[in-house]
Amino acid sequence: MDPARPAPAPSPLTEPYWAACRRGELALQHCGPCARFVHFPEASCPFCGGTNLAYQTVSGLGRVHTHTTVHRTFLPGFTPPYTVAWIDLDEGARAFGTLHAPDPAIGMRVRVRFDDLPGFGPLPSWRPA
Ligand SMILES: [Zn+2]
Repeated sequence: MDPARPAPAPSPLTEPYWAACRRGELALQHCGPCARFVHFPEASCPFCGGTNLAYQTVSGLGRVHTHTTVHRTFLPGFTPPYTVAWIDLDEGARAFGTLHAPDPAIGMRVRVRFDDLPGFGPLPSWRPA
């Protein structure tokens, strides 16, 4: 990992995800055979083993599954305290990111947004919908 660029380098598998983030869209792999969304990116579907996993733009809407607030610095660009959360997307997949909410709560309805962090580029994060 390049210390000047702490985010993982995109691979052929993940580049469509990062390209969508740069467009301000959340795109996830969608399995052709079983019609489920797959996230994080995989070479084959964890549900059926299918390899037809084209990226599709999703709504960017969901609900907080769980959250925690971080009080230590781990990475540049993330200034504590900040809250991170797993989000149950309306499409059935689960996504992760920073949650920008003064009173985070499990079940809170949220919408994706993209934070352009130096060294990372646009990263999905969440705010109350
Ligand atoms: Zn599948």
